[in-house]
Amino acid sequence: MATQKRVWLFRDGNRSLRDLLGGKGANLAEMMNIGLPVPPGFTITTEVCTDYYASGRQLPEGLTDEIKTALADVEKELGKTFGDPNNPLLLSVRSGAKFSMPGMMDTVLNLGLNDEIVNALSQVADPRFVYDSYRRFIMMLSDVAYSDQYDHITKHDFEHMFYDLKAELGVTEDLEVPAESLKALCDSYKAHVIKQTGKEFPQDPFEQLEAAYTAVFRSWNNERAIIYRRKEKIDDSIGTAVNIQAMVFGNRGDDCGTGVAFTRDASTGENVIFGEYLMNAQGEDVVAGVRTPMPISELAKQDPVIYKQFEDTCDILEKHYKDMQDIEFTIEHGKFYILQCRSGKRTGPAAVRIAVDQVKEGLITKEDAIARVDPNLLTQCLLPVIPANAKYNVIARGLPAGPGAATGIAVFSSDKAAELGKGGAGERVILVRADTNPDDLKGMLAAQGVLTERGGMTSHAALVARGFGIPTVAGCSEISVGSDHFVIKATGQIVKEGEFISLNGGLGEVISGQVPVEEAKMTGDFGEYMSWADEFRGKFGVRTNADTPKDTELAIKLGAEGIGLCRTEHMFFEGERRPVVQRMILATNDADRQVALDELLEFQREDFKGIFEALGGRPCTVRLIDPPLHEFMPNREKLIEEVAALHALGKSDPEKEAMLKVVEGMHEINPMMGLRGCRLSIVFPQIVEMQTRAILEGASAVVKSGGTAVPEIMIPLVGHVNELKFVRERLEATAAAVVSEQGVSVDYSFGTMIEVPRGALTADEIAVEASFFSFGTNDLTQMTFGFSRDDSDRFLKPYVAEKILPGDPFESIDQSGVGQLMKIAIEKAHTVRPDIKLGICGEHGGEPTSVKFCYEIGLNYVSCSPYRVPIARLAAAQAALGKGVSDK
Ligand code: PEP
Ligand code: MG
Repeated sequence: MATQKRVWLFRDGNRSLRDLLGGKGANLAEMMNIGLPVPPGFTITTEVCTDYYASGRQLPEGLTDEIKTALADVEKELGKTFGDPNNPLLLSVRSGAKFSMPGMMDTVLNLGLNDEIVNALSQVADPRFVYDSYRRFIMMLSDVAYSDQYDHITKHDFEHMFYDLKAELGVTEDLEVPAESLKALCDSYKAHVIKQTGKEFPQDPFEQLEAAYTAVFRSWNNERAIIYRRKEKIDDSIGTAVNIQAMVFGNRGDDCGTGVAFTRDASTGENVIFGEYLMNAQGEDVVAGVRTPMPISELAKQDPVIYKQFEDTCDILEKHYKDMQDIEFTIEHGKFYILQCRSGKRTGPAAVRIAVDQVKEGLITKEDAIARVDPNLLTQCLLPVIPANAKYNVIARGLPAGPGAATGIAVFSSDKAAELGKGGAGERVILVRADTNPDDLKGMLAAQGVLTERGGMTSHAALVARGFGIPTVAGCSEISVGSDHFVIKATGQIVKEGEFISLNGGLGEVISGQVPVEEAKMTGDFGEYMSWADEFRGKFGVRTNADTPKDTELAIKLGAEGIGLCRTEHMFFEGERRPVVQRMILATNDADRQVALDELLEFQREDFKGIFEALGGRPCTVRLIDPPLHEFMPNREKLIEEVAALHALGKSDPEKEAMLKVVEGMHEINPMMGLRGCRLSIVFPQIVEMQTRAILEGASAVVKSGGTAVPEIMIPLVGHVNELKFVRERLEATAAAVVSEQGVSVDYSFGTMIEVPRGALTADEIAVEASFFSFGTNDLTQMTFGFSRDDSDRFLKPYVAEKILPGDPFESIDQSGVGQLMKIAIEKAHTVRPDIKLGICGEHGGEPTSVKFCYEIGLNYVSCSPYRVPIARLAAAQAALGKGVSDK
């Protein structure tokens, strides 16, 4: 149970009490203390909310008395009395958690009105204003306090009645409805409450008050609040505070108004106040769009005195909080009041620009600037985006696998995408697949974006998409993909081939039709900001996962300091190489196999040469072939069908049949646990000997032409030291032979991936044979949990929803399980090789929380796909500073 006081007058609080008073309460207190015009009030603490839930939804004893004491203070200050018909104090009741959850929880305005008070007030104040306030109050309190127990008592039901009244009167604007009609509407509202609930709308102001703040506590657990917290990773247990404040009215006449504003432009970051307001209105009219608000610049013309006060307030708040603020204000009879301020939400480019500008203005330090920006926001600085003000229709949601926005016509095969898209007819296409495999690469590259029904954050589609910066929504189980259409399961809506769809990869949204897309601008601010991040991250490195010179160049532009993972098998997938790879696999004798390998050697040597050149002397961790060989062969099911079809016609094709035999021979029930990684190198040593030769010949060529190449040859999927020993001994012989043939010195080393739990647990044995470790956390997660990385989205979604897991472990490192294995591996490796180089190349290497973890456990670098390099740089700087966007 809470031991502290449960009700805080604003003047007793301050901004440091966000945990207890919520963000809104703490800021109201702070603003009052710095002398800004805040209407008086008090906050019921978040602890009351957590106690309310802990005690089975009971309000703590004595709370009402504390509230009454605080209320008496407000009454005294304003010379008004709650419930007094002659001089009533009216209240607003608003939620306010530690982290802002805009619009997710409930609010009640104009509380304290009843029939008697309304009657008396209408004698002395504008009756239109009085009845407008009453009808809003009946609607809001009924909605928030009773709609979860009774039907047809939501805001929407009351709005409908108001709409009918306006239709009856032949008017469209709220302001055109006269006082007597609003009075009649209040009566209809009350009759509606009786009809629906069997009870009178409460007339006792204290009963109203208790109903309102309990409803706010309940709204902590309404569906949209829960969903919002899940998305923003806000802890469910922290609860909300309730702010009870004297009302000021923006709807009291033409010298009244209300508005919201950002102290800088939240889309671009420009240092201009951005805001909207409405005269003669209450706050919800602006937010809900009932009336079209005016740009704040109009207020300067309409009322320069008030505008100056507003502008000064913005200035005071920015200087005080040293950050861009999102504020809400009300003007009552020409007097300006501020009702809320909070750190304003902003786009990635705006976040960077504001941070850089504020350093230059002397408002914040570079450390503050680095700590303040959410690293994930940086992707918005790099990719085409949907403009902030665009309106669009989301038809399904999946995983935000590859950020950025894309629009194009839906196509359902990679061939079609390649034919119609980039490099083909040049149309904009979105490739829609049930899932993707290496064969889809050409289609993906030709597409503006990719949508898949299956596959998780580390699925092939997601990996490739992030690597290439292709906007992608993966694992979208809300759709069902057919051969020339997909169906939205919930609605039955069908999207056919050729119809326009759009993707918002950063949010995992599938959108119907076209949306405007704008190219990201790489502004000077961005470069400057990133250079500050690099200063703070110091020696902690950021490398990239790249397999081509083009990607390497891109990643270097984005700040990569080398390659942490070059997946060599990706080089085998490319067009003309595939038949050669197939010949190599199908060869029935060593001589034939060697011919194919010699051809592949030519390709790979050039690939490596290109990559080393692009790296300009930076290190390159080259991972030897990993996936099972049958991935390079034709589709098994298709071959079976073709051979069977020929047989049915009494024909045969010996080549096809031989191919089918090999494919059948290689088929594995569980290829992820099968013949891949170092196991392949042991069974087919010629392949990795060829690769080692290609790496070192490519490196030698660069050295001979005056450059530098630093290959780090990495052996994947090692679980037992003998695997590594066996492969390394053979490959070192090849390496030594190449170096002596070439007659140049190349600074190469051998190391391994730690991606099998047994490898981590026996890292002291393995480190004897490896000069570096790179944690392959995709496989390490897969094998530690026993979750298939390609199929897990089906059950991980419900796992996360049911809080079985705090999040998707393929997205952010599971620190207590997978992370523990990493720590064990590091500790053990250090016992035999204190200077071992340690990195990570799983997808987690570009995820901020995981980067922080990697920094803390002592890795030397992280490696991630090119477009995530800036994210990792910033996350690393925040980790080094020990401060970043707060962990929720
Ligand atoms: C890993 O397993 O983390 C890794 C980087 O290798 P891959 O994703 O290629 O299996
Ligand atoms: Mg792996």
